[in-house]
Amino acid sequence: MTTHEPPLTPEGLTALLTDEFHRLNHQHFASALRLPQIIVSRRKTYGGYYQPSAHKIVVSYQAFCEHGWGETLNTFRHEVAHIIHPNHSRAFWAVAEALGATQRHASAPRTPRPVPAPRFVYACPRCGRTVARHRPLRRASSCGACDTAFNPRYKLRLVRPEVS
Ligand SMILES: [Zn+2]
Ligand SMILES: [Zn+2]
Repeated sequence: MTTHEPPLTPEGLTALLTDEFHRLNHQHFASALRLPQIIVSRRKTYGGYYQPSAHKIVVSYQAFCEHGWGETLNTFRHEVAHIIHPNHSRAFWAVAEALGATQRHASAPRTPRPVPAPRFVYACPRCGRTVARHRPLRRASSCGACDTAFNPRYKLRLVRPEVS
């Protein structure tokens, strides 16, 4: 991920975390873990948690926007380790570190309240990749994943709010 790209949507982030789960599961658990439900929460201001009863991992979208992918990855790996150990025992930290969760605490939020959701969502007609913006795009943009230069074939189309 490069910094000039527009921010990922929660959906885009969920897809990356799903890939990361499969990678960890394959490398560390012989693919024995069941895929948890992965939720990128717009309400949670930092960090994440694992809910065993629902087999669900929730991570903060705001933490990603404020601190980046490394922060989200660290939190996600920490929560994957909680699938094995529900506590913060020595055994837990050994698993968390083996998974690459090297930072022990989630970074504090820069703003106390959740970041408002971007109102405008665009999608690439070819790969379906989505891009979210707080304001509408001023000029035509095309998908950076499909072509590094502007390409009208991959012009981003507004998908939210829907035009009727
Ligand atoms: Zn924990
Ligand atoms: Zn594309």
